[in-house]
Amino acid sequence: MGYTRTSYVCLPCRASYKQHHGWESEERRCPRCAGTLVYAGSGFAAPPRRDVAAWRTVTLLLNAGIGFPKTSCGEPRYRPRTRREVRERRLWAHRSGEPLERALLRREIPWEPVTAR
Ligand SMILES: [Zn+2]
Repeated sequence: MGYTRTSYVCLPCRASYKQHHGWESEERRCPRCAGTLVYAGSGFAAPPRRDVAAWRTVTLLLNAGIGFPKTSCGEPRYRPRTRREVRERRLWAHRSGEPLERALLRREIPWEPVTAR
């Protein structure tokens, strides 16, 4: 496998830093604001800093304990990126009774979601 660099993010700065994965207890600080960096995972692709909506989605996922790992073949796993994708999965979770943390990982929703309102 070798060394893999993985992403750590500062949510207030909307900044992502690639670092070697070290000890769990090692605290990483943001070079911009000195805040604590959050582990995002090796499959994380940082949205542009101006894309506030996409970063809001990232924040929601990380706060829900959902990271951005890669699959065994090295592809990033599916994660919703837009507010619309989050909204659809939230609605699906509500309708189906599936926990939100699981619904958010769905690439496809089994039915046409109702997005009106
Ligand atoms: Zn920062």
